[in-house]
Amino acid sequence: MNFELSADQIDIQARVGEFADREIAPIAERLDREATFPYALYRQLGDLGIPALPFAEEFGGLGLGTFDMALAIEQIAKRDQTLAVTMMVSVSAGLIVQRFGSVEQKARYLPDIIAGRALGALAGTEADAGSDTAGFKTRGVRHGDDWIINGSKAYITNAGTDISSVALTLAVTTPPDAEKKEFSLFAVPRGTAGYVQGEPYRKMGWRSGDTRPLYFDDCKVPHSAMLGGEGQGRLLLHRGYQQARVFLSACSLGLADGALDLSVKYANERKAFGKTIGGHQLVQEMCAQMAVKVEAARMLTYRAAWLADKGAATVKDLAYAKYFACEAGTEVANMAVQIHGGWGFMDDCPPSRYLRDNRICTIGDGSSQIQMLLIARELGLDVVFN
Ligand SMILES: Cc1cc2nc3c(=O)[nH]c(=O)nc-3n(C[C@H](O)[C@H](O)[C@H](O)COP(=O)(O)OP(=O)(O)OC[C@H]3O[C@@H](n4cnc5c(N)ncnc54)[C@H](O)[C@@H]3O)c2cc1C
Repeated sequence: MNFELSADQIDIQARVGEFADREIAPIAERLDREATFPYALYRQLGDLGIPALPFAEEFGGLGLGTFDMALAIEQIAKRDQTLAVTMMVSVSAGLIVQRFGSVEQKARYLPDIIAGRALGALAGTEADAGSDTAGFKTRGVRHGDDWIINGSKAYITNAGTDISSVALTLAVTTPPDAEKKEFSLFAVPRGTAGYVQGEPYRKMGWRSGDTRPLYFDDCKVPHSAMLGGEGQGRLLLHRGYQQARVFLSACSLGLADGALDLSVKYANERKAFGKTIGGHQLVQEMCAQMAVKVEAARMLTYRAAWLADKGAATVKDLAYAKYFACEAGTEVANMAVQIHGGWGFMDDCPPSRYLRDNRICTIGDGSSQIQMLLIARELGLDVVFN
């Protein structure tokens, strides 16, 4: 095993970390409080080439891999997980287009997503079905060379900003009475007639990110908007989500690392009973536990990313990382709140924001329970689920 990062990877960590300290950390609290989408900041990420990292050079990417992207995501999430998530969802959508899209789809969507001028979205979840993807009801019906999509999606990230360009939308494309329900994936450009974006949700965390329902009201797209073949949609989206799982693990890892740093700093400053709270052994134990969880999350996340780049990541490898890192994020942020005492309970205290932000990570993108089922199935247990 070789645990050393290459010189280029160390450079990515340093450059993104330095940018995040300078440009993101000072405004993250305000973005959360005002729940405003940070257009200018996202543009800066694009100018730095961060969303470009894992894309092919022919589309304007930097030709690097999942691991390099995960390192950059970790650094951003350390200061503001919401911004990291905005980027990782867009990058994940772009990577699906790069991998499965047509020449025309790639030319149309990739350059702007890669440059940070546009955002991609993944529209899977519906109000009545999230984990149980077979329960989605949004339907596409073919009329000649077009498809008419009707239905609604819930909790879709990046679906309605001014720079949202496309929602990769999963729809049932078999008739209601078909023996087997099949899904297809459509690249639906924002602005298409019948692509109706709902009002943004009021959220516990990820407040400066864009999350809203999407409605499809006789939304007409040409057949050329389909990604992959008819009936392959669920498979393509699942594959895309697998890569997104590494990125979400990196989001929780970065957040946990940030919460640890803040806690050690605070523990060395705050005084109680005649010494710094960090001088008390029970606080020392909390910090040490946080550090172990961060390091273990890092090992599983890096390993999953490294295997993904070799094309060797199994469902179990990804589930280990997603489960452990996302749970660790919440545990570590919760301990950080504890160390910050009453101040930790205030909305504008960073650990409070970290805890609120990370809370969705064990629910979204395959909940912790779904990761457990995936692992149990790989272990050879009789797991019945789609
Ligand atoms: C802020 C935010 C952003 C999001 N962004 C996106 C996005 O960009 N695109 C998108 O498609 N979706 C998105 N989602 C949706 C998210 O992926 C879903 O909420 C998630 O998949 C869970 O689905 P659900 O909410 O329907 O919960 P359910 O599937 O109803 O699950 C509810 C609970 O039951 C548990 N559960 C379900 N099935 C089982 C089982 N078989 N065994 C044991 N436990 C089970 C789950 O783990 C969970 O604890 C987002 C959600 C939020 C809140």
